[in-house]
Amino acid sequence: MQKSANSVWGNCLNFVKDNIHNQAFKTWFDPIKPLKLNGDALSVEVPSKFFYEWLEEHYLEILKVALTKELGQGARLVYVIRMENTFGSKQAFTESIPSQNKGRIKVQNVEAPLQAQSAELKNPFVIPGIRNLKVESQLNPSYNFENFLEGDANRLARSAGIAVANKPGGTSFNPLLIFGGVGLGKTHLAHAIGVDIKSKYPEKTVLYISAEKFTQQYIEAVKKNTRNDFIHFYQVMDVLIIDDVQFFSGKTGTQDVFFHIFNHLHQNGKQVILTSDKAPVDMQDIEQRLLSRFKWGLSAELQRPDYETRISILKNKLYRDGVEMPDEIIDFVAKSVKTNVRELEGAIISLIAQASFNRKEVTLELARQIVEKFVRNTKREVSIDHIQKVVSEYFQMDVTTLQSKTRKRHIVQARQLAMFFAKKMTKASLASIGSKIGHRDHATVLHACKTVDNLAFTDKQFRKYVDDLNKKLSN
Ligand code: ADP
Ligand code: MG
Repeated sequence: MQKSANSVWGNCLNFVKDNIHNQAFKTWFDPIKPLKLNGDALSVEVPSKFFYEWLEEHYLEILKVALTKELGQGARLVYVIRMENTFGSKQAFTESIPSQNKGRIKVQNVEAPLQAQSAELKNPFVIPGIRNLKVESQLNPSYNFENFLEGDANRLARSAGIAVANKPGGTSFNPLLIFGGVGLGKTHLAHAIGVDIKSKYPEKTVLYISAEKFTQQYIEAVKKNTRNDFIHFYQVMDVLIIDDVQFFSGKTGTQDVFFHIFNHLHQNGKQVILTSDKAPVDMQDIEQRLLSRFKWGLSAELQRPDYETRISILKNKLYRDGVEMPDEIIDFVAKSVKTNVRELEGAIISLIAQASFNRKEVTLELARQIVEKFVRNTKREVSIDHIQKVVSEYFQMDVTTLQSKTRKRHIVQARQLAMFFAKKMTKASLASIGSKIGHRDHATVLHACKTVDNLAFTDKQFRKYVDDLNKKLSN
């Protein structure tokens, strides 16, 4: 069979997937696109220089094994780093960095430069004295790196934050965009970076501001006819941190002014740090030219903390407050409150308060009552429809395909998994599960449940499906 970039990369991915954690696979391998195969050299596109460096540091060996299996001893991997060029032009000039030899895999790095061809505000009016202006950073020193505990869910974002703090404006993570759901630590991390920069580089002008406040200030400035002052003020920052930029959605005036400020800072090697509750691709009503700039640097996601991280966050909180609590209770809280760190902290703070104000012993029963208040709102019944949707999405098919009469193996398996989870997670009868998932009878559902049980036991790949889906469904 004729080999193609797609087929070779597809096989490599299968191999890699079996050998690393799913989350890591998703983060580091899903975004890679095979580009072309030239003899024994496979070119792949990676989203950023940081990405490439990370792959090199953590996955070179496994990539080497996988690629050698596919292409033989002479296998080479060529990374192409995609960076969007300014003003929508994708026609970037490329620059080759000399190839390094690492093992047998030659790594070549072709990069489109991060250059803004400016139609820029050059800021000709330096306001006298403004450089000496003392800017209150608005940073909260209690949000620092020491108490921002590390876990799988935040490792990338945290490390990138530390890198930025060590060399503001001097890494390829500019802007650094931290995104993730509520209460996962975006604000904390954004402050931590600023606080760290201030302690290392006290002379640097650092400003933390929420996108909302920035917007209000801007509106004020327009009203008072001081738009230029507003812009100049922001242009003297060495480090500008804007929290919750999703707030800019639909606000074209603010986006426009931020665009100019951003360009100015970026061109002058100043650091921009942004947070958002969504990834750039999911942001709505934000101008394309701004979105494309958000993607220039690194977008790092904060995910929900895993069990171990939840435990360490709880223990750390207790330790800092000088409170002791039985492990059994910590474990209970960590297992019950999963959605975000804010709720986790809320639950433990309530427990501490109960314990100290009422001089009550913290029992498991008390913990249960308190935790219930925190999780009640977030717990929801899983429906069969929801299960079908999640399973279909996971296997990248639509629900009608999942329910169809076909005997194609992967579709049958997806359907059986949906039935299995419906049995496990809802109170519905076998018959009603069958009728909802493609009009099957109860015997088919029973058979599906048994098959899934068996396969999960004997087939490693299949077990991974079950585990992944279990995670997705129990969130
Ligand atoms: P977001 O801005 O994403 O909504 P916050 O930064 O306000 O979330 O975080 C919510 C709470 O959780 C804060 O009190 C913060 O200190 C805490 N928190 C979040 N992540 C961590 C972490 N990794 N370690 C310790 N505390 C954390
Ligand atoms: Mg926040």
